[in-house]
Amino acid sequence: MTTPENDLGEVKNLIPQAIGRPGQRRFCLVIEGSDHLAVGWMEKEQLQELSLSILRKLGPGPMSRSNTYAQQFGFDSAIIDTEFRVGVTTLRVDEEAGLFFVEIHERGASSTHPIIRFSGLSSMVQEMALTALEICAAGRPLCPVCHIPLDSEVRHVCPLSNGHHVV
Ligand SMILES: [Zn+2]
Repeated sequence: MTTPENDLGEVKNLIPQAIGRPGQRRFCLVIEGSDHLAVGWMEKEQLQELSLSILRKLGPGPMSRSNTYAQQFGFDSAIIDTEFRVGVTTLRVDEEAGLFFVEIHERGASSTHPIIRFSGLSSMVQEMALTALEICAAGRPLCPVCHIPLDSEVRHVCPLSNGHHVV
């Protein structure tokens, strides 16, 4: 087993954020531990892929949900302990405990150790993934099954419907 530099244990909150104007948005995940605040920056595609991987493990979640889109993290007043660019991410679910485990390696880092490790309630991680996909979509219609934004130009082959469900 490797030892990560920052093992946050079970975190209180996971907040996906898009910062900036449409077309120039930057994406990150705010990871709020009990006494440690971490921010992992990533590309929009990375955030989408991470969210889909989570939903593949935990299930697609409810089709309609209360709107949590507006949750904004107060970067101006926050003291960030760890800030990094997200590289390879490993996900594991403990169904019995209802916990989801995440290990993130820093992008471009030479270390074989993850820069951060945390766990969270599966329901919270699932909610985070759904919110992240909404943020990435930014108002575009979403596939009701996988929550990926539907592009009117391209036929949608749904990754959560055995790849054959076309919307
Ligand atoms: Zn779909």
